Amino acid sequence: MGSVLLAGQPAVAEPAATPAADAERSHLEHADHADVVRVHLTGSDMLDEVAAAGFDLEHGLTRVPDGIEAEVVATPEQVAELEAMGVRILAEGEGFTWSDEADGGFAADAGARVAARSAAATDSTAATSTSTYSHQATVRIARADWFTTKGQGFLYVEARTTEGAQTNPIIGMQVENDSGPGTDFALARTMSRFIDSGQYMFHRNLFKLDTRPSKIRVTSSTGGVAVGPVSDWLEDGEPPLTDKPGYKWNLVDGYKHPQQLHDRIEEIARENPKIAEIVYLPYKTNGYQRKAQATIGGTGQSAVVVTSAAWGHEGGNDITVEFVDRPGANLPLSVEVNGKAVRVLLAKDSSGALASTAAQVATALKTQSNGLIDRSHPYRTNAGTGIVQPTAPVALTDFLDQKRVGAPEGDVPRGPNTVRVLRIGKHRDGKKPGVLIQAQDHAREWVPATTTLETAERLVANYKTDKETKKIVDNTDIFLIPSNNPDGANYSFYNNASQRRNLTNHCADDNADPGRRNNWGVDLNRNYRVGSAQDGYSGGSFSCTSDTYQGPEKLSEPEAKNIVWLAETYSNIKFFMSVHSNGGQLFWQPGSYKADGRVTTPRPPLGDEMFYWQAASRILSQVKAYRETVVTPQNVGGSSDVLYSSAGNVREDLYHTYGIFSFGWEVGGSVYNPATGNWQGGSFQPPWEGNPELVSGHAETMEYANGIMEMFRIAAEWGKDKKAPTSTLVPGAGRFSGPVDVRFEVSEPATIYYTIDGSRPTLDSPRYKATEFREPGEVFHVTETTTFHWFSVDAAGNIEKNYDPSKADKRNNFNKATITIGDAEPEKPKKPKKDKK
Ligand SMILES: [Zn+2]
Repeated sequence: MGSVLLAGQPAVAEPAATPAADAERSHLEHADHADVVRVHLTGSDMLDEVAAAGFDLEHGLTRVPDGIEAEVVATPEQVAELEAMGVRILAEGEGFTWSDEADGGFAADAGARVAARSAAATDSTAATSTSTYSHQATVRIARADWFTTKGQGFLYVEARTTEGAQTNPIIGMQVENDSGPGTDFALARTMSRFIDSGQYMFHRNLFKLDTRPSKIRVTSSTGGVAVGPVSDWLEDGEPPLTDKPGYKWNLVDGYKHPQQLHDRIEEIARENPKIAEIVYLPYKTNGYQRKAQATIGGTGQSAVVVTSAAWGHEGGNDITVEFVDRPGANLPLSVEVNGKAVRVLLAKDSSGALASTAAQVATALKTQSNGLIDRSHPYRTNAGTGIVQPTAPVALTDFLDQKRVGAPEGDVPRGPNTVRVLRIGKHRDGKKPGVLIQAQDHAREWVPATTTLETAERLVANYKTDKETKKIVDNTDIFLIPSNNPDGANYSFYNNASQRRNLTNHCADDNADPGRRNNWGVDLNRNYRVGSAQDGYSGGSFSCTSDTYQGPEKLSEPEAKNIVWLAETYSNIKFFMSVHSNGGQLFWQPGSYKADGRVTTPRPPLGDEMFYWQAASRILSQVKAYRETVVTPQNVGGSSDVLYSSAGNVREDLYHTYGIFSFGWEVGGSVYNPATGNWQGGSFQPPWEGNPELVSGHAETMEYANGIMEMFRIAAEWGKDKKAPTSTLVPGAGRFSGPVDVRFEVSEPATIYYTIDGSRPTLDSPRYKATEFREPGEVFHVTETTTFHWFSVDAAGNIEKNYDPSKADKRNNFNKATITIGDAEPEKPKKPKKDKK
């Protein structure tokens, strides 16, 4: 088995010997217990298969040259299931390490061709297309990023070949880098081909380097070449607020369970009434409560599963069930109820032998127990044909009093929970840009909760003394949810540390026995409406015992309804961050696709994509500023572009339904360890102090709170942005003797709408888009005289030159440029067509 990564605390629900009068407890009630294991998958086909089988692979997923490595929370039974699918379970310390070694797979003769061509390589391959608006190149560089962490340099490269989908033979790619301006290319390294859901995505690699290169050259095995500059990634961030003398931080002293989080944010609101208040969300949760249960008589055909009508704490735990053998023959099956004691008098046949089957006893219990027993059935998929044997009274239990080792002191309040939001802002009148930070949708993710609480503490502690904090609080309307899954979080703290989902059990009888109690619940981040599994998107499960169970219908869960309620009630919310752990990733859209053809939810327009990248770079620079933790560019972007599809996630819904910039964050983990030269993964509940340079709940809380603070600054600036963007066509209008490549440039993240037919551009005109996802804007190969009309819109909605695309006016002050091809006198550019009134 792989390593257990849960703060040295066993994830096992230890069945404590709870007093139950003289009744005997069923010996079968150990819940299936799960550990975190690291696995190796051969590729995306296996990934799809494992995900389809209901395993959650969201954390620590890494593409390695021979496949994919990921973390799975699995019971021993599930580990066997994984192994049967061909998944390899990695031992502790085993696994791939990114290094500067070539990783094979590149044909030797291709390497020779690379060498032969290298002298002749130019900045890009010549365009061969004669079509007006297409541009073919065999190799394009999408990213070449340089970053440093803890004294080590890294180069991350992403490149595509237009032949990437070809499989016979597979086209290899190599990358070379120089060692700074004016130096030669050296050391060709093989790149890894990234395939997802059967589709070629791109080639990519992360290399360790000691000197910052200024440019790279990528060569395909068929001879395509591209050369491009190297950019900095998170290299020039501003110092964090935590460096400022007098700035108060480090205000959270350990992990907090939901009661502590709720108490503290209510206290913050009471102590700071001018800038803070609590919003009580309208949809109450299921609650930290369960029905009382027992599985009686083994697991065979004669076993009976019994579930109380009342919640355990409301009387269910007082019920006992006894199967009684009476002397005599020809006796009918019947049930006696005395107070909370249920006695099933088993039937006898004419020879005096016991004659009640499990199915018959289950029906009798449901119908003759005075309403004490709500649900009773044979075990799992059994038909219940076995003859039930007598047993001493068995006490039903909700199992919630069986605390796991290491659980915090105190009792958890039972009954439905009201999720609290701490709202912070000087002007909470709907006029300032709203930012919603939602943590702990997934119960076992404890660091997101402390990160959110630390953020709140810093805002109120520094409001009167720190200028930057005052700017944030005066210019934004912040909504903080430290725990959006309080029931599941309590279950994680008190019962099953690995709990991911909420506590609602939607399982039918075949999975309703208490042995399954750690496998119930809905994955709240699969319960939303856009790109959902119900609509055919990948990455949400229909199985009620899967860790990615999407629920019986869209928005079935109160925790998800509440988020939609917030978005609809506070329409000033324009920014959203769903905070998860662990992995070191920052995501946006698209985050979901249909496996057949890998059709994603709609991609954000280029202006939004640019804005996301710019914001991500600022947020992650502030994270890095704390202790040099680098979230690498391979883990940043549309989540289904860099990780995999998660159907029905909250980000897709809030972005596509409400136009809210919606990020998803995996905090923690993936820290470079200079002592070993490897990247080290984290865990859901790292030791709070831990190793402050590597895996530590405290350090992760502090560094990611820096990042959230930067997100508030971005929102505040967005709210004040009244400056229109400008855009240009490069090269501009003019005469060219032959075909020319043109593209648009913008002064800030902005989306361009354009026409080439002489008409007036509107918001329905074609949008200027990326060549391919994760690449810059497309290049038009213009072969005949063409007039472009266009305007741009920035992320705050400002339109270039205050042009009104909704109606034709006299000024028509959109941009115009004519590219004239050929030596003859140019025709007069056509006048833009007037809109018909
Ligand atoms: Zn999560």
